[in-house]
Amino acid sequence: MIFDILTIFPEIFRSPLSESLLKKALDRGLLQVRVWNLRDFAGDKHRTTDDYPYGGGAGMVMKAEPIFRAVEEIKSQNPEARAVLFTPQGELFHQGLAKELSGQKHWILVCGRYEGLDERVRRGAVDREISIGDYILNGGEIPALVFLEVISRYVPEFLGSEQSMEEESFSDGLLEYPQYTRPPVLRGMEVPEVLLSGNHADIKRWRRRESLKRTYGRRPDLLEKAALSEADLEYLAELKSRQKID
Ligand code: SAM
Repeated sequence: MIFDILTIFPEIFRSPLSESLLKKALDRGLLQVRVWNLRDFAGDKHRTTDDYPYGGGAGMVMKAEPIFRAVEEIKSQNPEARAVLFTPQGELFHQGLAKELSGQKHWILVCGRYEGLDERVRRGAVDREISIGDYILNGGEIPALVFLEVISRYVPEFLGSEQSMEEESFSDGLLEYPQYTRPPVLRGMEVPEVLLSGNHADIKRWRRRESLKRTYGRRPDLLEKAALSEADLEYLAELKSRQKID
């Protein structure tokens, strides 16, 4: 999987890419990340990448031309590459979308700054627009890292075991069940007995029910789209009839 990142602040990416799973994936060649400084694509000696907004108003707007040039250069090397612009006005990013987009093997990530970008970037330079949530960040660099990290988890061998992806929250449309590690009693709080039982069928059933209970209690909206079995539906009906969910 290849990511080409276009930014005016390339240093932001140094630390996140040099630790933990992302670093390992880069070292193993599972991922290739290139960070491009948009100033290198500016057309003037001051390497200008922003300008005043037409019509007036506060702040600066990122110029379109450096972004067009950078995207065109990368696509000339690989016409299959697709460019995504990070913007709070884009399609909301979620696990299902990440899974779908992980099918595309080369992404160009366009990071905005200031008041945003010249509208012509949206109209002509990029293939998709993605928002990571209904809030405003200073720039597209953190959204680009979120996108890169979430999508990279679908690269085969990125995670130690395939199973850890399958059981993660959202992967089957539900929140994950609670996890525990040693000691069995901590500050008066006990690990549920079933987890110490060694009975795999019971543990599996307990985890599924906890997953349903947690999703019902915290994110009932997710249940509308989750794939649920007859047994799940029966358990949910039982939960709904309870006065209180712990
Ligand atoms: N004035 C713009 C607007 O209201 O849509 C917001 C500009 S924001 C301060 C600067 C840049 O940060 C944006 O161009 C975008 O690249 C990035 N950004 C901010 N919040 C974002 C979000 N929730 N999702 C994706 N990108 C975001």
